[in-house]
Amino acid sequence: MHVLKFGGSSVGTPERIIAVIDILERYQKRKQSFTVVFSAFSGVTDSLIHMAQAAAKGDALYLELWSKFHERHLQAIDQLVPSGVSRERSIQVFTNMSETLKNLLQGTFLVMEASPRTMDYVLSFGERASCMILAEAMNVRGLIAEYIDAREIIKTDKHFGSARVDFELSYKLIKAVYKSSKKIKVVTGFISSAKGGLTTTLGRGGSDYTASLLGAGLSAQAIEIWTDVDGVLTADPRLVKNAFTIPKLSYIEAMEMSHFGAKVIYPPTIKPAMDLGIPIYIKNTFNPNFAGSLITMEKVKHIHPVTGISSISKVSLLTLQGSGLFGVPGVAARLFESLANKSINIMLITQGSSESSISFAVRPEDAATAKETVDQAFQQDIHAKTVEPVHIEHDLSVVALIGENMRFTPGIAGRMFRSLGKNGINVVAIAQGSSELNISAVINRADEAKALNALHEGLFLSDVKVLNVFMVGCGLIGSTLIKQIQAQADYLYKSKHLEIRIIGLANSRKMIFQPNGLNPNQWKEQLEAEGKPMKLAKFIDQMKNLNLSNSIFIDSTASEEVASKYDKILDASISISTPNKIAASSPYKNYKKLKEIADLRGVQFQYETNVGAGLPVLSTLKNLMISGDRILKIEGVLSGSLSFIFNKFTSKVKFSDLVKEARTKGYTEPDPRDDLSLKDISRKICILAREAGMHVNLEHVVLEKILSDKATNAKSVEDFLKVLEGDEARYTALIKKAEENKCKIRVIAKVEHGKGVTVGLEEVSIDNPFAQLGGSDNMIVFTTERYHERPLVIRGPGAGAEVTAAGVFAEIITIGDYLSGYGY
Ligand code: ADP
Ligand code: ASP
Ligand code: MG
Repeated sequence: MHVLKFGGSSVGTPERIIAVIDILERYQKRKQSFTVVFSAFSGVTDSLIHMAQAAAKGDALYLELWSKFHERHLQAIDQLVPSGVSRERSIQVFTNMSETLKNLLQGTFLVMEASPRTMDYVLSFGERASCMILAEAMNVRGLIAEYIDAREIIKTDKHFGSARVDFELSYKLIKAVYKSSKKIKVVTGFISSAKGGLTTTLGRGGSDYTASLLGAGLSAQAIEIWTDVDGVLTADPRLVKNAFTIPKLSYIEAMEMSHFGAKVIYPPTIKPAMDLGIPIYIKNTFNPNFAGSLITMEKVKHIHPVTGISSISKVSLLTLQGSGLFGVPGVAARLFESLANKSINIMLITQGSSESSISFAVRPEDAATAKETVDQAFQQDIHAKTVEPVHIEHDLSVVALIGENMRFTPGIAGRMFRSLGKNGINVVAIAQGSSELNISAVINRADEAKALNALHEGLFLSDVKVLNVFMVGCGLIGSTLIKQIQAQADYLYKSKHLEIRIIGLANSRKMIFQPNGLNPNQWKEQLEAEGKPMKLAKFIDQMKNLNLSNSIFIDSTASEEVASKYDKILDASISISTPNKIAASSPYKNYKKLKEIADLRGVQFQYETNVGAGLPVLSTLKNLMISGDRILKIEGVLSGSLSFIFNKFTSKVKFSDLVKEARTKGYTEPDPRDDLSLKDISRKICILAREAGMHVNLEHVVLEKILSDKATNAKSVEDFLKVLEGDEARYTALIKKAEENKCKIRVIAKVEHGKGVTVGLEEVSIDNPFAQLGGSDNMIVFTTERYHERPLVIRGPGAGAEVTAAGVFAEIITIGDYLSGYGY
């Protein structure tokens, strides 16, 4: 015998019911004997609660809800039992049932009261209606079925709302009913009855339990819970998109997962099956050929040390503390006894190592009573001031790692707290079950989804890691970056199990957010069509509110305003990667502060592309420093635009023509003075000096003046170019002199130990590596204690959207490695 249970979502619509009957037919064809348990149609139990509550408040809304209930079931009969006597019978039986419900609600409306006892009776109509219709629908399809009201076979006490089962009596009644005929029994889930026939229920989600009780009563071969997901997943799929099926897990693990909030199984379900060693299968009605999950007696060896991750969304944490608790035996017993007397369920307990505090988590609705009860139990100690009155914290959640194999794997807790820490999630309390089956942490409720995702990534490493990118500025560099990410997506997914999602995007006019990631092929159209007006503060707020794990902010603007917000962004535990040089070259105090915030929040502030675009300049410097080398001198040709101009400069060409050419070719800023003023280079060398450990500011960089005052002050770019033509003699003289010395002219930025930071024109002899640079190449030379005789040279294209975007791209991946604990 197999006991098959189909939940509300499996019987939500007539089409779905037809799919369920298809599944049942397969059992029939295989000649496998089976019985079926059904829940109420999806949403019906909630709506019955709503009806009764409305009626009890004297609100006529209940009638409207009742009509919907009535219509929905009649429609189901229409489609599933379309003709003949069975149709007439179904309509008749259902109408009677529904009228009784209406009268019952009217009674509630009149007395304005819905006791737990009445509630259970009201709720029973959901399962009774669905099962009656389903049994008829099965008959229509040739499955000879018989409707069984579980109130006849599942007996309980009178704890309405979640009654306790009398196993012995129930098993006896179950056996008797199943002996009575060979028809396929279609049993109402969730409902039961107490002595005297009063209707009770087994608690929300209780149909799973009904199936398990039938399984145990009938010593079934298997219990199959058919639902709307592919089994027990590693985490709640509504919160963790990458959760995947756990193929096999032990009863104990399943019990722990469900206790910690995995709604897919109602917690009491496991016990009856476990007592008799009956396997439980969790299967997907919408994907029936998929194996799903098997829950068995055996301890299962999983690929990962952790089996699953669960969470309880709403908890309050109560803390009892004071010197009076220290080393006093029986304190915990007194505390928990007082709570047990009030039937308050404790979800988690943690005790400070000093024994002077005990914290415990309860449902928020129990918090006030729990405080009152415990304060009462410790009344004398509170009076004597050796214990403080209970302190309550609200709006918390519990996240828990679950698995039998954790016990044998060191370092799991470390990984757990690192994943939480790196995502800026504050842990309020920690507890580990004595069986080491779970490690749980109490966190702020607002962080729950983020924590689950961070933990899922941190602990199921073979699974795909998602980096959530927010990008401001989608000009040349930004759009090239998106193209590169798109082109590499497949490779990253396969080789690094990495997925980069662009969640938020903005240009100077519009911004758009898509929590599951924008389509990288259509971002331009989407931004134009659906984008909201761009407001930087709003963009940042929205990014923070989404509270996604592994969030990275990319600033590919040159905006001062954006750079001024980095502190807020880092402080929200969001990493930054940016080609925008403004922040890293801003006043030293600010630069230092940004680094400190990043450290404090466990995130990254990266700006490799500030110097040498995609060339690994800052990372090389960092590696030299980390490995204990000492920097003596850094020299560099750091500007692609100026390289282009000076690499071509000879006495045979006009300097002003070169500037014009560089400008038309897009090598310079729109106003070439931004390059020729050497401001941009001075930002770069200032950053290099800082990374080398020097405490410098932009004003410490000594700049040579390349332009005349008149050129510098010219009103427009056109005016400036004219003035430059007039200044030609100044440049001709320079180049002639250099050529006489068999030299070339280069703009060189320099940091030298004891000599400060300078940028200026230098004559370099023809055999000097700087003289041999071509095009817009950059070159940086590190002279260090180790690289003394032959300095370390980095050379290559130091400008351009492709290489800069590639540098940012590499940085995104480095940040991803860091966030998952691989990087430093
Ligand atoms: P049914 O109506 O079939 O009883 P439920 O809604 O009670 O279905 O339970 C199934 C739902 O449980 C899934 O749709 C899923 O959203 C949720 N769920 C929460 N945690 C898990 C988990 N770890 N594995 C699978 N499903 C989970
Ligand atoms: N219909 C009941 C509920 O919604 C029981 C169940 O679905 O298991 O709680
Ligand atoms: Mg359920």
